[in-house]
Amino acid sequence: MSRSEDLFAQAQLSIPGGVNSPVRAFNGVGGSPIFIESADGAYMFDADGKRYIDYIGSWGPMILGHNHPAIAKATHQAVDRGLSFGTPTAMEVTMAEKIKDIVPSIEKVRMVNSGTEATMTAIRLARGYTGRDKILKFEGNYHGHADSLLVKAGSGLLTLGVPNSPGIPEDFAKHTLTVTYNDIDSVRSIFAELGDEIAAIIVEPVAGNMNCIPPVPGFLEGLRDVCDEYGSVLIFDEVMTGFRVSRGGAQEHYGVTPDLTTLGKVIGGGMPVGAFGGKKEIMDYIAPVGPVYQAGTLSGNPVAMAAGYAALTELSDPELYPRIFARVEKLLDGLQARADAAGIPLTTNRAGSMFGFFFTTAEKVTTYQQATECNMEHFKAFYHSMLDQGVYLAPSAFEAGFMSGAHTDADIDATLAAAEVAFAQLAKL
Ligand code: PMP
Repeated sequence: MSRSEDLFAQAQLSIPGGVNSPVRAFNGVGGSPIFIESADGAYMFDADGKRYIDYIGSWGPMILGHNHPAIAKATHQAVDRGLSFGTPTAMEVTMAEKIKDIVPSIEKVRMVNSGTEATMTAIRLARGYTGRDKILKFEGNYHGHADSLLVKAGSGLLTLGVPNSPGIPEDFAKHTLTVTYNDIDSVRSIFAELGDEIAAIIVEPVAGNMNCIPPVPGFLEGLRDVCDEYGSVLIFDEVMTGFRVSRGGAQEHYGVTPDLTTLGKVIGGGMPVGAFGGKKEIMDYIAPVGPVYQAGTLSGNPVAMAAGYAALTELSDPELYPRIFARVEKLLDGLQARADAAGIPLTTNRAGSMFGFFFTTAEKVTTYQQATECNMEHFKAFYHSMLDQGVYLAPSAFEAGFMSGAHTDADIDATLAAAEVAFAQLAKL
């Protein structure tokens, strides 16, 4: 028995499922999760001392790689000044200005402690601002675990096969309308019927919780038009895509401007941070200036702000994004070539530093339906072969992969060599 297996057995006695977030369990691939002890750059080291090339990056935050020296230094310095004050601090002002500078559609921003808080509040704000109850989301998009948003959700819910969670009153869930991602016609037809009652559309501008599915041309633009026509608030959930698809997020990359944006992951540099922001007129509906209530004991925490600010500052390196994007291209082209050579049907998607691969005969995957129809046996076998060979991928076919600035060409070469072995094993199944 490995130390990870020992720890997992012990963990299950005290923690539900042995994990503090379901996506960490290996339900999607079978087997026992790996317990990590430390991480540095592109690598993680498990409790048995084994090294992995990491393509999850703590589920998105570690775009600069693990244990980045500038983030570590800023965090240590902040710790020395005190862990939490529950008062305003200068760093919160600096942080807000930094976010506005990187994401110009954000005129005002409020910090929270997770992506879930950010999306939950953005929805409440949109409802308060418009005086409407209904919201529209997309099947397979995941926006955290607030009640209104756990309807036909992706990520761990898709992996576990329970897209709607018990515990959410039907009276609540009925206000959440769901339609098909990348299908603007379904959005238009539901708005034609109920548009005047819809407070907001919330969307992952690149879907990253049903594998990685970028928007088809015209989709995001169409959402903008529909919201303008019906006076609904357009919310881009950029918790995953923010600072990742490009420095200014998906809205910069695709040139479509939302009314509100939610942020998380990269914004905290590895600390628990989220944020929501957007048009001044809407943001000023939030307490204490406005009537919509939202608060947080630890929001804008000085240590978290120091880590996040250091991370956002490092993103200005002009070579960072081109380098990461080139590595994604090399990885995906290499995977495709090796799968083709082994006769394994595969197709890939990417958006900036996010990527996905699908075991399917389809040429391109653009829909939720296609993502769910992929060959799961191939995925599971590939996953475990890669894990054995020291490559750490998301343990589910319904999650995106993430590249960091710390991954080297040599890391990609090693990953591709491992993939060649894995595809050869799949060919024998
Ligand atoms: N929105 C999106 C797009 C996400 O990917 C996630 C988390 N994976 C969330 C919201 C929720 O963020 P958190 O887990 O920090 O609550």
